[in-house]
Amino acid sequence: MADPNATGRFAPSPTGPLHLGNLRTALLAWLFARSAGARFLLRIEDLDPVATREEHVTGQPADLAALGLDWNGPIERQSEHLDRSHAAIARLEAEGLTYPCYCTRREIQEAAAAPHGKDPMGAYPGTCRDLTAAERDERAASGRRPALRLRAGDVAVAFEDRLRGRVEGRVDDLVLRRTDGIPAYNLAVVVDDAAQGVGEVVRGDDLLPSTPRQIHLARLLGVEPPTYAHVPLVLGPDGTRLAKRHGAVTLADRRARGESPSDVLAYLASTLGLARPDEPVTPTDLIERFDPTEPLVLDPRD
Ligand code: GLU
Repeated sequence: MADPNATGRFAPSPTGPLHLGNLRTALLAWLFARSAGARFLLRIEDLDPVATREEHVTGQPADLAALGLDWNGPIERQSEHLDRSHAAIARLEAEGLTYPCYCTRREIQEAAAAPHGKDPMGAYPGTCRDLTAAERDERAASGRRPALRLRAGDVAVAFEDRLRGRVEGRVDDLVLRRTDGIPAYNLAVVVDDAAQGVGEVVRGDDLLPSTPRQIHLARLLGVEPPTYAHVPLVLGPDGTRLAKRHGAVTLADRRARGESPSDVLAYLASTLGLARPDEPVTPTDLIERFDPTEPLVLDPRD
């Protein structure tokens, strides 16, 4: 049974409208929290100024509210709390756990081995880890702005995922601060979850490969990692991740087809085995039907 005090959250990036897969993940995150009597927070992960669209900063919460999902307290915008992440980076720097990395994305792709074994996707091959001072100066002189990476030390982390069971992965030298000076996602998510008292993270399983990285970072920063439940993404009929090309995949698309938000809620609940597709339900009805201790079998093709 989850700790009833384990605050849950949903933390979308406002780069596009939430699609049915995101909405189903949000519904599950809400159900896990509310069925345990826990608080549920909404955090907008708007660290990337280029990808962030203000219309989605307001539109994503509006879609969740239309489905009947609620949250505690004000919505936090990650970009308004950069000081926390910068302080965490400074702490890791002071402990000698970082180094500047001058690699371009292309160089990393070329040098990185194809993902295999327990290495996370896109694992950094360590090119800049042991540069001499002269080599570093040479790269700095070329005008390249460095990213800051964690000196992870080839550690492996295992954890128990509520849905996936035991998961183990190696931690690579992940980016802490991007070349544009903005804290990287893996760092900011750990810092902000800790600052907001998040105890349980329910999110899409596309993020599973990054979880060992985040648990390792939490431990280095002296915070208790949350527990995790990674839920399958919804796929389109062609087996690829649900996207615009698959048709009516957002709430707005469904509305344009004459479906109400409660029709969409019923549909999402039906993919979780909690309602019939056309059954009028409210999120509160679903709390009564949802049993987080039951193994949750999600068909990614729903
Ligand atoms: N903001 C991330 C995304 O939308 C999710 C972060 C998380 O749930 O840890 O992909």
